Amino acid sequence: MPRIYEPPRKYACTDKAHKTTWDVVVRYGNYSAFNGYRFTPSDYSLVRCNTCGVHWRTRGAYVAELPDAPRGDA
Ligand SMILES: [Zn+2]
Repeated sequence: MPRIYEPPRKYACTDKAHKTTWDVVVRYGNYSAFNGYRFTPSDYSLVRCNTCGVHWRTRGAYVAELPDAPRGDA
């Protein structure tokens, strides 16, 4: 199970030059404190920019094109 971490921020990386370093920390769901950190399916995924270090949640179609983050790396 991934270790999360800091709350997702309300803003996303918008630098297209960083996009090649984006990956998906939690795909189509979340681990919320509200449910004891169990996985909850969702339309939203948690995406990370490995250049800025920001995390954000999105249901953008581009998530399907991003790689998954290495297991345990988050
Ligand atoms: Zn970035």
